[in-house]
Amino acid sequence: MAATVSDILLDWYDRHARDLPWRAPPGTPPPDPYRVWLSEVMLQQTTVAAVKPYFEAFTRRWPDVAALAAAPEDDVMAAWAGLGYYSRARNLVKCARAVAARGGFPTTETELRELPGLGAYTAAAVAAIAFAQRAVVVDANVERVVARLFAIDTPIPAARKPIRVAADAITPARRAGDFAQAMMDLGSSVCTAREPKCLLCPLAKTCKARATGDPARLPVKAPKKPKPLRRGRAFWIEREGEVWLVRREGKGMLGGMRALPDDGWSARADGTGEAPMPGTWESAGVVRHVFTHAALELSVVVQRNAPAPDAQGEWWPIDRIDDAGLPTLFAKAARLVLAG
Ligand code: SF4
Repeated sequence: MAATVSDILLDWYDRHARDLPWRAPPGTPPPDPYRVWLSEVMLQQTTVAAVKPYFEAFTRRWPDVAALAAAPEDDVMAAWAGLGYYSRARNLVKCARAVAARGGFPTTETELRELPGLGAYTAAAVAAIAFAQRAVVVDANVERVVARLFAIDTPIPAARKPIRVAADAITPARRAGDFAQAMMDLGSSVCTAREPKCLLCPLAKTCKARATGDPARLPVKAPKKPKPLRRGRAFWIEREGEVWLVRREGKGMLGGMRALPDDGWSARADGTGEAPMPGTWESAGVVRHVFTHAALELSVVVQRNAPAPDAQGEWWPIDRIDDAGLPTLFAKAARLVLAG
């Protein structure tokens, strides 16, 4: 089955590959590792459609890894705002600096894995796509396709090991990068989560899940534990067309980002409710946000014509609030206040 699956899939990819700004067309020399790495890190956060404008803005501003390495971390964090998982933006800068210091990206999966913040998936993807190395690249799309091809019905996460073994068995030595991208494309456009389009699938004949008649039930996912609900308050402090912003502590949730002051909620605890200064606070409503480890209900309260709090921070023009690089949670809070 191994040779057959990769041959059929590469043939399909030659005709149906998605045209994406970080890709090289099938069968052409590999793309720039910087662009592959950057796109893969961004794609771990969100969809291709959401990543495209970020990728274009990043590569326009920082066209190569040396330019990104030389950028102030604050600028990169602000450009990343809206993509989520801000620790990844910090790691992006760290990794760019390590790569620039060594004179370029290493070419093997093992050496790539040693770069700061570069995980197993990204190392495999960059090695395969940018350096044509044989590497087993398994993202959520590939996981789904492989679970179905081999009818692996162990629930994820326990299924990850057999899925990896099966993915390894079908990964070819030649064109491993195109193969990885072909699997990603198949997963995103044909073997989709809810309604796989088996009639259009080049692998339909060999697919075990299809033979069972209900491929969409795979992969099986272990039931999710409900996320703890945290509560906190954010403070909109305004005077003369400006709002008071703070810089969050360098480590921890949304670390290093500009934000509204808050009452110290975290992934592990509710906030104390304590305001950064005395005075009368009006409610602007509640913002709900879901993080990896917790859900948050953030009450947003407002004080106008206020003095500066007795703490570090800066007055920021409200009509330029979109340029502050606020993470999504605080951007939502700002929108709530401004809509009111
Ligand atoms: S035949 Fe259907 S279930 Fe199997 S890989 Fe193709 S699209 Fe997915």
